[in-house]
Amino acid sequence: MKKWTPALFSSQLESILKEHEIEIKEASSKEMYYAISSLISQEIERNWKKTEKRYHSKRPKQLYYLSMEFLIGGLLKNNLFHYDMLDTCNQAMTELGFDPDQIYQEERDPGLGNGGLGRLAACFLDSLAALQYPGHGYGIRYRYGLFEQRIINGYQTELPDYWLDSPYPWEIRKIDEAVEIEYGGSVHMQQAEDGSFTFSYHNTDKVLAVPYDVPIIGFQNKVVNTLRLWSAEPADAVQQPDETEYYHQLEHHHAIEQISGFLYPDDSSEEGKWLRLKQQYFLVAASLQKILKDYQENVRKSLSKLPDKVVIQINDTHPSLAIPEMMRILMDEESLGWDEAWQITSNMFAYTNHTIMSEALEKWPVTVMHQLLPRLYMIINEINERFCRDIWEGHTELRERISEMAIIADGYVHMARLAVVGSFSVNGVAKLHTQILKTQELKDFYQLYPKRFNNKTNGITHRRWLLMANPRLAEVITETISSHWIKRPRELTHLLRHINDKPLLDQLDIIKNENKQKLADYIQQTTGILVDHQSIFDVQIKRLHEYKRQLLNTFHVIYLYNELKENPLLDITPRTFIFAAKAAPSYYFAKEVIKLINTVASVVNHDPAIKGKLKVVFLENYNVSLAEKIIPAVDLSEQISTAGKEASGTGNMKMMMNGALTIGTLDGANIEMKQLVSEANIFLFGLQSDEVFQYYQTGEYQANELYQTDDRLAKILDQLRDGYFGHEFKDIYYQLLSTNDPYFILKDFDDYVETHQHIDQTYRNKDSWLSKSLVNIAHSGKFSSDRTIREYATSIWKL
Ligand SMILES: *Cc1c(COP(=O)(O)O)cnc(C)c1O
Repeated sequence: MKKWTPALFSSQLESILKEHEIEIKEASSKEMYYAISSLISQEIERNWKKTEKRYHSKRPKQLYYLSMEFLIGGLLKNNLFHYDMLDTCNQAMTELGFDPDQIYQEERDPGLGNGGLGRLAACFLDSLAALQYPGHGYGIRYRYGLFEQRIINGYQTELPDYWLDSPYPWEIRKIDEAVEIEYGGSVHMQQAEDGSFTFSYHNTDKVLAVPYDVPIIGFQNKVVNTLRLWSAEPADAVQQPDETEYYHQLEHHHAIEQISGFLYPDDSSEEGKWLRLKQQYFLVAASLQKILKDYQENVRKSLSKLPDKVVIQINDTHPSLAIPEMMRILMDEESLGWDEAWQITSNMFAYTNHTIMSEALEKWPVTVMHQLLPRLYMIINEINERFCRDIWEGHTELRERISEMAIIADGYVHMARLAVVGSFSVNGVAKLHTQILKTQELKDFYQLYPKRFNNKTNGITHRRWLLMANPRLAEVITETISSHWIKRPRELTHLLRHINDKPLLDQLDIIKNENKQKLADYIQQTTGILVDHQSIFDVQIKRLHEYKRQLLNTFHVIYLYNELKENPLLDITPRTFIFAAKAAPSYYFAKEVIKLINTVASVVNHDPAIKGKLKVVFLENYNVSLAEKIIPAVDLSEQISTAGKEASGTGNMKMMMNGALTIGTLDGANIEMKQLVSEANIFLFGLQSDEVFQYYQTGEYQANELYQTDDRLAKILDQLRDGYFGHEFKDIYYQLLSTNDPYFILKDFDDYVETHQHIDQTYRNKDSWLSKSLVNIAHSGKFSSDRTIREYATSIWKL
């Protein structure tokens, strides 16, 4: 690789810009963004070809990560950083009179994911490349990503995210690698002379899947893996001269393009829409064709050896149609018999479960599946029949569970069951989550296939979330324990030798303050709200969902406000509550909570009696780039889901890594955080998952009783009912009480408030807080996705 200097960098940029007749001094920051992208793309190109060549000649086993979502965030800074060119670029820009950050902000986040699940996929790709594993992502190139959120008058409004408005410099369209996908039609079965059956399809709808490849750069190692995003296009051009036919075709083409038209905006819940199923099949069918073609061209061995060379991880059930699709290809196109095809298929797929909430468990009406994918439906049927027969004959102890285990039952195809039956590995994403899968959600399947189940606790890439997002902190860490932690993040534990190192703690304090000041500036610019950067930054940023309990946090804010109104001299440490969250557009209750937070914010922020002791801020349009701005500035990380509901969480890990302390329930990966840092360095409260489970079973919890007996709760709830914050929050009051508070907000309130009081006291002792912060950073190495990916690679993928 070239040795880059700022001067060389600038002169290359100059010649790139010249080709477009732009003088470097007069370039806009947008033009500069494109010029730098183009410069680094040349660098990438070389390494990409080399990596592909190496995979071609050495033929290592390949991993394919299938996911309906990839929330990759900005790539310019990331790619510069991974090529060790970030400092050079920054210096060159500054010398030319540009603000580097302004240039990086020209890049739009591709919003190709909803939240945690999509961001996990992105962190995994980063770690795969960093660790030099041959692993690639396959997803969909939605023309419209997740909506952009604007807060207008306190309400969430959704704007379409047409992120391809201006060209995306990192993708390469590969039209010569396009493949054809077929939907619908009818299936014809013929018997050959030898008695075997062949299947042919008639009157299907044909769609072209065109790949757009995005390079995934390894960290300072020259590896370039691929994220392949499929785009739907008509298989043939509009050509009928006849006018009615012309419009008919045009409409048809439009319908085809809709397949990769937009991302469904629901997180942790499923929308059983026809188009969504079309999208899923689109991803699966296109990806498998490509995977098999690569195998046949590169490996040139019999298909029976496929599982030695290919492993496919499916991210939640969304891509689980890959299992029957693989069967279809092997049988109908490659003429294998059922048993051989099943032997191959069921040894290729591994399934990651992401949720235990019933509304998120995917199922499709048989009628829909049958009409849209008739041949796949036949195959799913056959898988189901063989599976049920197997239980009936071989596992008599499970006989009476068959109707709860059948892949097709009560008119639906149950995708999680299909995924479990057709995979060799089933994993949860945190210890507790995997435990719940084994003992509750998938209990019967665990009894049937105990060896299949395993845990892979989620992780995050410390390169983006620490080194890039918080460079000053990274630098101080390196000065303290040398740079080995960058390649081996577990070595962050060497920081533990320094928990009483006063100069280091002071530096941590300075850095946190700088980051908070920066965020305070951003808050002022975007919302006009003035916040005190010396106050506690108490932050909850994640999708808005009842189980995540933003409402509990809001109740705490209202409680503090009420207290201060009654006793203006109350001695509390000033706090800034920061929220950011998108709600699914059709999720009424979640949108009410957003409106409530904004209303409370405007009451609290404008009340002179509060004297600036409390501020409430809602930052709009939570996405990866906003997360990168907020996370380095967090003092207190809110991870307060109802115990047993959050599979893992990854926001919790990002904030821990940046020195935040956590207030949390014993849920998801919080439990593993606690085990690492010990109870002295994390603030735990609330019911535990077995208690929640007990209450669901016995029905012994009575929300109304708490409303009757706890004055603080009564006051808050009555304020909502009586219009203290405006008349639109009655619904929250009625829903909470009429559904008996299914997420235990009232139940956990008391402990939550008390824990916050303890936090208030702890924060007053600056050095003690800082050393707890350091302990959290020191133990956060376990949550690097490098660790997660190594575990997948050794115990599931066998790379
Ligand atoms: C990390 C991340 C999430 C996941 O946050 P949780 O707190 O784990 O739900 C969601 N959205 C974005 C943009 C993220 O970066």
